[in-house]
Amino acid sequence: MSAACGTPLGLSLLVDYWLAELAPADEERVEAHLLGCASCGYELRSLVNLAGGIRRVTRKGAVRAVVTRAFLERVAADGLRVREYRVAPGGSVQCTVAPEDDLVVARLSAGLEGIGRVDLAICDDSGRERERVRDIPVSGAHGEVVFLPRTASLRAAPAGVDRLKLLAVEQGAERLLAEYIFVHTPSPAGPARG
Ligand SMILES: [Zn+2]
Repeated sequence: MSAACGTPLGLSLLVDYWLAELAPADEERVEAHLLGCASCGYELRSLVNLAGGIRRVTRKGAVRAVVTRAFLERVAADGLRVREYRVAPGGSVQCTVAPEDDLVVARLSAGLEGIGRVDLAICDDSGRERERVRDIPVSGAHGEVVFLPRTASLRAAPAGVDRLKLLAVEQGAERLLAEYIFVHTPSPAGPARG
């Protein structure tokens, strides 16, 4: 048991920190707190463990992380607002992000049994690859990949189409497992302007 924290950072802030979405000054403040607070450090570690072992993700680009179902259940239970889109292989979905959403997730169903390495490629409507998450964790994936796009990028995104491709990578060759089409509409309130 850790000593209780008098000024806990809170799950929402920890999620933003882990996802590298904080402004540098806020990030420094969180890091300074974590250095001296075992309780909040424990909270962050349990969150990261639930997320499937990806500690930090890249600050650049639209891709943030592939997480587990347990992570989703935890953050929803703690009161974060999660907008979910479930898509079947070959399926398409209309998507957006609302001002009150904390996280947006895409739940991509797929047959993943027996596949050693799976990559997730984010492509534009013409199929050109923009970004890739390599070697995503699929053990215990329950036949789905839960993909977490960067909320800030989504809020700023114009209307457009993204194609997400799950690829099996075997002996240096790639095989398309499934493709999912996301037809994005900007937030009803319009892109946030800072
Ligand atoms: Zn604390």
